[in-house]
Amino acid sequence: MTDLALEVEDLVMHFGPVRAVDGVTLRIRPGSVVALVGESGSGKSTVGRCIVRLLEPTGGTVRVAGAEITHLNRRQLRAHRRNVSIVFQDPAGSLDPRFSVGDIVGEPLRLTRQKDTGTKVAEALRRVGLRPEVAQRAPHELSGGQRQRVSIARALISEPRLLVADEPTSALDVSVQAAVLNLLADLQRDLGFACLFITHDLSAVEYLADVVAVMYLGQLVEQGPREQIFARPAHPYTQALLSAAPVPDPAEQRARRPVLLGDDLPSAIDPPPGCRFHTRCPVAIDTCRTVVPEPRTIGEGGHQVACHLVEADGSGPDVRPTEGVAR
Ligand code: SF4
Repeated sequence: MTDLALEVEDLVMHFGPVRAVDGVTLRIRPGSVVALVGESGSGKSTVGRCIVRLLEPTGGTVRVAGAEITHLNRRQLRAHRRNVSIVFQDPAGSLDPRFSVGDIVGEPLRLTRQKDTGTKVAEALRRVGLRPEVAQRAPHELSGGQRQRVSIARALISEPRLLVADEPTSALDVSVQAAVLNLLADLQRDLGFACLFITHDLSAVEYLADVVAVMYLGQLVEQGPREQIFARPAHPYTQALLSAAPVPDPAEQRARRPVLLGDDLPSAIDPPPGCRFHTRCPVAIDTCRTVVPEPRTIGEGGHQVACHLVEADGSGPDVRPTEGVAR
């Protein structure tokens, strides 16, 4: 038995020579939100797809609500689909245009042979702020924001224990992004599902997440409670990401000097040896080029970091020019 909503152990997902995910270990407690952040190409969406079993992992294990789902067959996956749902980035692409909104939202119930779909669909639509009449419409008749609400209604209709939200607002107009984020936050609080929130929007992370996990080139480099990660990021990559994130205060924003990481993300076909970040790290030492840094615990609440230069008490380099050198 476990009391965890999600346990990912040493997850590996290779696509031929591409090592998209290479040994990710992650846990989510019931009812909590873990934000998985990193540049595009870091492998974070691939982790999400393995968890909902749209992809069968190359290695490692995935447990959702205590049930191992890593290698389920198609019939066994049906039961799994009740426990975990996904909301994709692009609502236009994820809603089948041949079906009505009502059919789309009710589909998970039909797949798991549940009854009373009409009432449940109306309730699911109401919960996401849409009127029941929307059930008769086609997805293309709706705005982008409304379509993403439909996606969320479909994802939550089977009352999953875990929701994977993969960049749920980044394809939407800026004007509706906040409303959809607020909706997700309200639903998460009211319904109590756990959430893996995959995003590159760090302001949304600060607003929604309990825990932040930072991914770089297929591996986690740092994870821990949100307040600790934002107040005292330990890994140079996390520091660089945070230094580049916009802040609401215009004066503070003007004063910011983001850490420039230079070269693009290296290829996942032939990742750098040692610490994968060493080709872009401003403080890399020789050891970084050959020895893989193991994750070590540095703080309360399971704050972990994989960097040779971070000490057990969390002290170490700070690569942010505006923050000074000492921490
Ligand atoms: Fe930089 Fe070395 Fe730490 Fe990697 S292990 S982040 S290269 S200092």
